[in-house]
Amino acid sequence: MTDSSAPGNPSSTAVIVLGAGIVGVSTALALQQRGHAVCLVDRQAPGRATSYGNCGILQREAVRPYAFPRDWQALLRVATGQGNDVHYHLRALPALVPALARYWHASAPARYAGTVAAYSALIRHCLDEHAPWIARAGAQDLVRHDGWLEAYRSEAEFDAAARDATAVAADHALDHALLDRAALHQAEPALRDVLAGAIHWRDPWTVSDPGELVARYAALFERQGGTFCHGDAATLRASGSGWQVSTADGTVEAAQAVIALGPWAADLTTRLGYRLPLFVKRGYHRHYAAEAMPSKPVLDAENGVLLVPMRQGLRVTTGAEFAHRDAPPTPVQSGRAEQIAAQMVRLGAPVEAQPWMGARPCIADMLPVVGRAPRHSGLWFHFGHGHQGLTLGPATARLLAELFDGDATYVDAAPYDPRRFGD
Ligand SMILES: Cc1cc2nc3c(=O)[nH]c(=O)nc-3n(C[C@H](O)[C@H](O)[C@H](O)COP(=O)(O)OP(=O)(O)OC[C@H]3O[C@@H](n4cnc5c(N)ncnc54)[C@H](O)[C@@H]3O)c2cc1C
Repeated sequence: MTDSSAPGNPSSTAVIVLGAGIVGVSTALALQQRGHAVCLVDRQAPGRATSYGNCGILQREAVRPYAFPRDWQALLRVATGQGNDVHYHLRALPALVPALARYWHASAPARYAGTVAAYSALIRHCLDEHAPWIARAGAQDLVRHDGWLEAYRSEAEFDAAARDATAVAADHALDHALLDRAALHQAEPALRDVLAGAIHWRDPWTVSDPGELVARYAALFERQGGTFCHGDAATLRASGSGWQVSTADGTVEAAQAVIALGPWAADLTTRLGYRLPLFVKRGYHRHYAAEAMPSKPVLDAENGVLLVPMRQGLRVTTGAEFAHRDAPPTPVQSGRAEQIAAQMVRLGAPVEAQPWMGARPCIADMLPVVGRAPRHSGLWFHFGHGHQGLTLGPATARLLAELFDGDATYVDAAPYDPRRFGD
């Protein structure tokens, strides 16, 4: 792809998209849809990294990104290792302090309210942006439309969460139902009687194999004439008036390049001189051959463990681990998650020898980075989707594609602008 135009479309621009997770594949599809010739580059097959191992929920209800806890009780709970939703590596903290300080700052109530306004404006489009691609990719068999369950063990916690959910649902026009203990066990007989009740978020869709969904989106992209190449994003270099990258199929050149490398984005942006507050929250999962699975994902909210019926078995997933991205896995949360899951269902043997580990790519202000690189012509940033990348990939890809073409954007792009960090 050394020419700068797609055949038959002289105004289109050839683009290299680096990273074939949900965000990169969605970028490739959105740009292709607008007539651009796209080469998608990854060192492995599409959808095999973070986008493989998540909980598979298209979180239409996630109008509020995860804030840094601001009350001392919650902080003390994390600091003293109580609960399973958060774990941290002490030795990783010094390097994390600058990003965590900004995360804390952004989580102050007044600032957070602005973030929720921006985030919810995007989240509300998430299903509409996925829907046509699910259909065209022939991925309907992977997707269910009956939501997920946010469950609580204690009556008091359930009551408080139910009040909050009812208020949020009213503010954001979300469909939800409150299931008490009896209703929950009638709806999900595979669950043991340890849960006091659940919020049934009814809008979200769930994906029984998120990695496969991304692979099918990538196959759609290739069927429609797009190119996928194996290559190392670290080989990206400015070349003439554009960019080039080395791939297994030779050097690819294009006028424009998009960095969509999720948790690895900073490897490249730091080399280019940007200091974006990107950090990771690692997470684990393991599949189990459960005798009977719940019909939809069930979160044990007080323990930060989510049980998800998947094609591979019952996926037991964990909350956030603050650690160096590449530090060896620590089995603390996944070990506890197995015990917690065994209290909730009749858990069978693990499918894999070891838990899977991935890293949520998080930005300190809780919003992804979508837009033109501040100081490099023809370079674009698209990463940092944190806890909701599977949900938001197509929605932010549309935003990026609109910016790319200089069109009016369907949501306000300013909150996602890479220049907001002053680089
Ligand atoms: C346990 C867990 C549960 C989650 N649950 C949900 C959920 O239910 N719903 C939801 O919406 N989100 C969820 N998420 C978050 C979601 O998975 C991520 O936000 C999303 O997958 C990020 O996608 P991405 O494309 O940015 O990154 P990735 O999927 O990691 O893609 C990045 C790509 O870049 C490639 N790459 C990296 N370096 C190089 C290089 N040097 N050269 C070439 N290629 C390279 C990688 O191979 C990879 O394919 C969860 C995450 C975790 C960890």
